[in-house]
Amino acid sequence: MRRLAILSVPLALSATLAAQTPRPGQPEAILIKAGRLIDGRSDAPQPSVGILVEGERIKTVGALAQVQGQSKAARVVDLSQLVVLPGLIDTHTHLLLQGDPTAESYEQQLLQQSTAYRAILGARNARIALEHGFTALRDLETEGAMYADVDIKRAVTNAEIPGPRIFAATRAMAPTGMYPIVSANWELELPHGVQPVDGVDQARLAVREQVAHGADWIKYYSDRRYYFGPPPDSVLHSWVNFTDEEAKAIVDEAHRLGRRVAAHAIGSDGIAAALRAGVNTIEHGDGFTDSLLDVAAARGVYWVPTVTVALYVAAPRGGVWGPIPAAQKRAFQHALKKGVKIVLGTDVGGFPWTEVNQAKEFEYYVQYGMTPMQAIKSGTSLAAELLGQPDLGAVAPGMYADLVAVSGDPLKDITELERVKFVMKGGVVYLPP
Ligand SMILES: [Zn+2]
Repeated sequence: MRRLAILSVPLALSATLAAQTPRPGQPEAILIKAGRLIDGRSDAPQPSVGILVEGERIKTVGALAQVQGQSKAARVVDLSQLVVLPGLIDTHTHLLLQGDPTAESYEQQLLQQSTAYRAILGARNARIALEHGFTALRDLETEGAMYADVDIKRAVTNAEIPGPRIFAATRAMAPTGMYPIVSANWELELPHGVQPVDGVDQARLAVREQVAHGADWIKYYSDRRYYFGPPPDSVLHSWVNFTDEEAKAIVDEAHRLGRRVAAHAIGSDGIAAALRAGVNTIEHGDGFTDSLLDVAAARGVYWVPTVTVALYVAAPRGGVWGPIPAAQKRAFQHALKKGVKIVLGTDVGGFPWTEVNQAKEFEYYVQYGMTPMQAIKSGTSLAAELLGQPDLGAVAPGMYADLVAVSGDPLKDITELERVKFVMKGGVVYLPP
């Protein structure tokens, strides 16, 4: 892994800076010379583009010669040999988890690691994500580490540590006994991977507590205990966790407080229940049937497939997890035909941050039938739409200056996104070219 340069100015450029220091009160201007630009929205790349960054935002995007003429005093970052894209966005992560392919690996973390230790690893994970070009994450629950995601977010926002923009879900919810750790020994009170919630009053209270402590999103676990039905349809089923009244109370209270809702839903029964409750995003969604995909498409519900984790845990978990990726691949291909909004999310933390680059997810989407450009949009502009963040996910005037660059053509080889050569977030260079 490359070391991250936590520098607002690459060293090689600093010598030329003295003459270009901005006047007091004026944000620094940076002219980025892009060999090619994939802006996150257009269907085709543009050659030889100038991007003028002022402070934390993009001021101008246009033909290089033209933009260069308007920005004579700007410091130049030469990416003329590279392809520039918007910063990547992963909409399903767990900063506080270091891989849980088995129940033992999960329990080891909750039982043997303090929240402080886990938060230190979470800060490291934030740096890894940024190094890999991910300038924004939706972090979908802390797995027993309470509100530590909000603390990591605060440290990033205050520039104490390098990391992506974080949209935090805090604790997530499941009813009593329906999420680990559940012990056979009733004399032990063990840590919970979620906030246990029973009944509509507790559901509303839990949403209010989580929002009070900094939740940007609300997440709940719609199902558990997955199994395939008999052939010929072989639908992936599941046991539903909450009553419809409870799930609707979670969603209604979250929406009342201006928060969107993500539902973990792997089996068709869990997906159906989450759609009935009115959630905004379906996480995993391996058991999507054609009729459920129609509902998601009609209502504009986003699907975050997390293919990387499904493939990572299939072998170590065994059992029903073995055939789940094949079922998901079929559903993915049907979803593409039906126009369901598929947004990039990996579930990193379910696999170790240090082992697999999150950007591998782009590769799977192309293998499953997306064009490379569709895959890029799913992890940039469409992800920003899911987040409700109109200033992220594209390279255009007024947007935050969150940019990455790669040396080869990602439209020919999508794995280029696993080898980013330049990272900028909010106008600050974190990985110099
Ligand atoms: Zn997850």
